[in-house]
Amino acid sequence: MAENRSTRESLVEADVNASQDPAITRRDRILNERLAEFGTTIFAEMSALALATRSINLGQGFPDTDGPDEVKAAAIEAINNGHNQYPPGRGIPELLDAVSQHQSRFYGLQYSPDREVLITAGATEAITAAVLALCEPGDEVLLFEPYYDSYAAAIAMSGALRRTISLQPPDWEFDPSELRRAISPKTRLILLNTPHNPTGKVFNRRELETISEIANEFDLIVITDEVYEHLVYEGAHLALASFEGMRDRTITISSAGKTFSFTGWKIGWACGSAPLISAVQMAKQFLTYVNGAPFQYAIAGALKLPDAYFQGLRAQMMRKRDLLSMGLAEIGFEVLPTCGTYFVNTSISSLSDEESMTFCRLLPERCGVVAIPMSVFFDSKTIGPDLVRWAFCKRDELLRDAITRLHYFKRPESAISPRA
Ligand code: PMP
Ligand code: GLN
Repeated sequence: MAENRSTRESLVEADVNASQDPAITRRDRILNERLAEFGTTIFAEMSALALATRSINLGQGFPDTDGPDEVKAAAIEAINNGHNQYPPGRGIPELLDAVSQHQSRFYGLQYSPDREVLITAGATEAITAAVLALCEPGDEVLLFEPYYDSYAAAIAMSGALRRTISLQPPDWEFDPSELRRAISPKTRLILLNTPHNPTGKVFNRRELETISEIANEFDLIVITDEVYEHLVYEGAHLALASFEGMRDRTITISSAGKTFSFTGWKIGWACGSAPLISAVQMAKQFLTYVNGAPFQYAIAGALKLPDAYFQGLRAQMMRKRDLLSMGLAEIGFEVLPTCGTYFVNTSISSLSDEESMTFCRLLPERCGVVAIPMSVFFDSKTIGPDLVRWAFCKRDELLRDAITRLHYFKRPESAISPRA
């Protein structure tokens, strides 16, 4: 691992300490009402806990090995070649071109690099900028629940309101009539994520057709977060923008973090019709203006890697999914199917009566492993209290070690203590 652990440790701790500053926790007096419902992200909390307890971090979804050496070398070369000042507001032409070619190569979608692509500070900024640009206060945004944590915060910052449609375990299907019922005259956007974090669901053709029909019927814009587009193990990733009537009402968002294992570089992008992309840029220019000049050069090259790279990444992650899923099942957890992403989910009810939040907060002390309680991704309290999300984007030996430690949870008297 090429990471400077002590620097990373102190920074993660600083992150959490900042949010525990008494001045910040007196929310009633300082933090505005729109953000008052949010605390430290679960990922920062659990990564700090992993460091404090020296646990194996199967919580936050980041790979513990870096992406391709040639992509790293390209970033270093870009720095040495003097690409260290503000890049153009939309992104460097090489990357705009590469994103456009990527959409055409994998999905047959054509976007003009000059007018229909925008480079952002990760997918997170693209999503936030899109919501800020498109929503009026009081507008409604439809989300499938469970949902990735930054969506609710982005919606809240815009003054819009979220309306959720539930995905039902174990296959995380939704009821189209629930989606229809959620639509009101105030509905502005649907925010879709496929492959889906935290469930590992990959929306299938029938489901995407339903969403498309509804978006067309009610004249809605859809934001699709496709950051795990190359991490699909069952079925195929289908781009919503390729469905009938959807190209010009969809903002397709993705990023380099998961596809190239450089989550810290924060290079993301949005593709869509020229008016939608200009709107997103309007908000984006006042958030970060631009970011990551040398990394933009490196990712421009990475997006053109041969198919073998993308297939290799998928095969590697699929093996890790199977390794962790089998290990968790052997321990006695009920493992839910996962078709894509970095994550596998389990019910803990066969091994513990605790709610997932309590279980995850105690797990590091009990056996030196960190995981994420699914309950944090739900507004509803009925689904999720017994579900835990485990990230498998880690080295095989770490996954094996985590499984050994988790056996200790089941049989503390017979297995080796992880703390020994
Ligand atoms: N969307 C989803 C569903 C995610 O899991 C993540 C975390 N990688 C993001 C967006 C954020 O992506 P980025 O790091 O590119 O901002
Ligand atoms: N997407 C990552 C996850 O779901 C977390 C990224 C973050 O910490 N913001 O684990």
